Amino acid sequence: MTLPRPQMFIDGSWVEGRAEPIQHIHPASGEAIFHAPNADRSAVDAAVTAARTAFDDGPWPRLPGRDRARFLRSIAELIRSDAANLNALLSLDNATPSSFVGFYQMGAEYPADLFETCAGWVDKITGETYPQWEPNQPFTFTTHEPVGVAAIITPWNAPMSLFAQKLAPALAAGCTVVAKPSELSPLVSLRMAELIAHSDLPAGVFNIVTGPGDPVGTALVEDPRVDKVSFTGSRDVGGSIAATVGARIGRVSLELGGKSPALIFADADLGMAVGIAAGNAFLGLSGQVCVCQSRVLAHDAVYDEVVAKLVGFAAAAAFGDPFDPKVSAAPMISTRHMRRVLGHIERAVDDGAQLAVGGGRAENVSTAGNFVAPTVLVDADNSMAVAQDEIFGPVLCVLRFTDEDEAIRLANDTRYGLGAAVYTRDVNRALRVSRALRAGSVGVNSWSLQPHAPFGGMKQSGLGRENGQAGVMEYLETKTTFIS
Ligand code: NAD
Repeated sequence: MTLPRPQMFIDGSWVEGRAEPIQHIHPASGEAIFHAPNADRSAVDAAVTAARTAFDDGPWPRLPGRDRARFLRSIAELIRSDAANLNALLSLDNATPSSFVGFYQMGAEYPADLFETCAGWVDKITGETYPQWEPNQPFTFTTHEPVGVAAIITPWNAPMSLFAQKLAPALAAGCTVVAKPSELSPLVSLRMAELIAHSDLPAGVFNIVTGPGDPVGTALVEDPRVDKVSFTGSRDVGGSIAATVGARIGRVSLELGGKSPALIFADADLGMAVGIAAGNAFLGLSGQVCVCQSRVLAHDAVYDEVVAKLVGFAAAAAFGDPFDPKVSAAPMISTRHMRRVLGHIERAVDDGAQLAVGGGRAENVSTAGNFVAPTVLVDADNSMAVAQDEIFGPVLCVLRFTDEDEAIRLANDTRYGLGAAVYTRDVNRALRVSRALRAGSVGVNSWSLQPHAPFGGMKQSGLGRENGQAGVMEYLETKTTFIS
């Protein structure tokens, strides 16, 4: 495995961080394994200056589409050639189990595909022509132009995929970029930066700064030379970024948290439904997933069976060294986060929910790390905090419904609207219910995230969409030209 160089890439050169380097603690062992560069405000300033100059004076936004597409394809190839290394770094970054990296949306194949699909969009960013409206203006047409300098800020839970979900469309659109990955998972993003540096993009088109949200993220967001901020992370940070950027009428896209419901109807394949909902919550990243189906709504007739199956599934979580192929579940990213998750469970019990399984730290773990046991809470009410707040851990609450209307009402009774799932064998019900759900993505007997299909949230889960054509459009402005 090759660790990334502990430097930031600014204006085509590798530079040291001037602030105290950030020790990267491996969440599954508690050991310090890397020192990431720490940008100060002057490094952010240099990165934004580079991106601004590359946008205003450089060739990138003006390159013919097919040339920009070639760069994106070469980045895809570089990612593929380094896939094994990137996947291993992901396990060092946030302890993603190596057994889970083969899961398409987590490993290196997904970002490589994203760069390829975005390369495919570059020469299809077409405008429209309009029929004559005024006598002296026979011809009107639209073009789409890059929005300018884009700041992309990403979280720690899926650092490789989410980095690519922003960078590939931004570059496809012709924007220049300053990226800031999470301080909790710098490795895979810095390695991606090394690969991108090999693609010979013009200097200043891609820059990366690393360090904490404050001051590195805030400096980036506050800089008026940044035209667009694309942020994935928590709802509260997203809200404050939107306020800062919005005050200068800057562009902003937000991919935030969720409290996604899984609606399990009486005719559902219960094994499949539980496998997907509990697989998301208990295995892999242990529920540290934005689209975790953390509210299970089960029809009265199958409620007990669903709970029994969820409890049974909890035993599938195996904890320890992420490189051990038998390990299937990650620890919480930090001790602080583990305490938060345990606090949510305590509060749920205080509020009257009952523990069906779990409820504390995982036992019999061979390594250090903040492992939480898969937890199922029953007899919860949808108004309780456990059913309303994003917990971001291996915690499911199971609620009961008696008919379709009640299921829809409960599902939509949340401030979030990221994902939802409907489990039923009745296709009419599946279509009716998916249409009624206020969520950006609805899985019918499934869950997915695909490079060519839009992804994002309704309500307080976000603003804008990533992936597919919609994702590229987030980095473009529409211009209308009237010809006389
Ligand atoms: P976070 O909000 O704490 O941090 C996200 C990023 O923002 C990090 O890079 C951080 O350094 C930076 N940041 C923090 N404060 C900032 C500030 N004031 N200004 C600018 N940047 C700042 O989130 P997290 O704990 O890293 O990630 C978990 C959250 O992300 C969860 O809520 C999860 O649901 C959400 N998430 C959403 C999606 C999605 O696609 N909707 C995907 C993954 C994660």
